[in-house]
Amino acid sequence: VADARARRGPAPRCFDEVNLGYGQADALREAERCIQCVKPTCIEGCPVRIDIPRFIRHLLVRDLPAALAAIHESSPFPSVCGRVCPQESQCEAQCVLIKARMEPVAIGRLERFVGDHAPAPQPPPARRGWAASGRVAIVGSGPGRAGGGGRPGTAGFEVTVFEALHVVGGVLRYGIPSFRLPRDIIEREVQQLRDAGRASSRPTRSSARPSACSS
Ligand code: SF4
Repeated sequence: VADARARRGPAPRCFDEVNLGYGQADALREAERCIQCVKPTCIEGCPVRIDIPRFIRHLLVRDLPAALAAIHESSPFPSVCGRVCPQESQCEAQCVLIKARMEPVAIGRLERFVGDHAPAPQPPPARRGWAASGRVAIVGSGPGRAGGGGRPGTAGFEVTVFEALHVVGGVLRYGIPSFRLPRDIIEREVQQLRDAGRASSRPTRSSARPSACSS
């Protein structure tokens, strides 16, 4: 045991991220492994049905904004999901390469690379005289709820997210350690959602049960 400890070196004393993800060369090399299936079974394994071959195609030609836009059509959180989704039992488990006894395309790592490295989308211009088509209330700001705020927001609804705690994120923030999901990643993707006008929140402490964020 003492030998093994000596080989491993000193134990880390901080909560910095451990898995640092792909660099550009690794990401492009991995993207080349995708054979762009006509019937992409990987999409069927994705709970939110990201158009996986399309975002990989954009990545291959180094068009990161287009790759990010393709992911954003289905998920507002590529950097978060690329880190914490169990791709090995979802999209990657359905990758056709497995049938050829090959490693599946590392879809999660590619998604994370796009989320981390694509420039933030430009917020839409202010809409003078804009009136919401209606109002939508979302209770809870975990990944499913906060992400879901993007859909009615995109459709022109005014979205209010109610959260009992003083910051948004739910289980992302309180259920996943920061060495696996750094807090600045959550902040950045939630802020992008706000900037896009797809959902907004203003956490305010409240003693009432589920009530805190408003738009
Ligand atoms: S199933 Fe695999 S190889 Fe086919 S499109 Fe999806 S990621 Fe690419």
